[in-house]
Amino acid sequence: MSKIGIYPGSFDPITFGHLDIIQRSLNVVDKLIVAVSDNKSKNHFINIDDRLNLIESTIKNLPPEDQKKISIEKFDNLLVHYVKAKKASVIIRGLRAVSDFEYEFLMTGMNRSIDNEIETIFLMSSEKYHFISSRFIKEIHSLGGDISKSVPKPVLDFFSKI
Ligand code: ADP
Repeated sequence: MSKIGIYPGSFDPITFGHLDIIQRSLNVVDKLIVAVSDNKSKNHFINIDDRLNLIESTIKNLPPEDQKKISIEKFDNLLVHYVKAKKASVIIRGLRAVSDFEYEFLMTGMNRSIDNEIETIFLMSSEKYHFISSRFIKEIHSLGGDISKSVPKPVLDFFSKI
């Protein structure tokens, strides 16, 4: 039976850090759903359709055999319900520094208290991506800084127009 993983996040926007986690997760699962949060209470900078399109365009540059294993979807319900509905067995999350740990630890604990059967796997991105975060991308860009080393081309093009 093929193992389905869900990589949930805001992807506001997708960065090289996210992309690295996506590629690494293909060594762990047979199919990966990149699940983009459409939670209206989180104030996203980029609207849901643009966030989905940016991931889609980014994935198009991966080898075809990798692309075949990836799908991109939005979700707006409780993550564990979404994971069950998709018949997935693992949640994939990325870790950068210790600062990610507390939030991820609490989230995994909460998810486990709702459904004890779903495992969360944490993958570490390559060290050259450890300092990349969507939040910093937006801040740096708004102050006129260069984000080209941190985001894929479609994101760079998108930001050059805003
Ligand atoms: P969320 O709002 O759910 O934290 P994000 O899009 O910010 O969504 O992140 C999704 C996941 O990707 C999180 O597990 C986050 O820690 C991870 N992540 C984001 N950037 C990086 C990076 N540069 N290296 C490794 N993991 C990352």
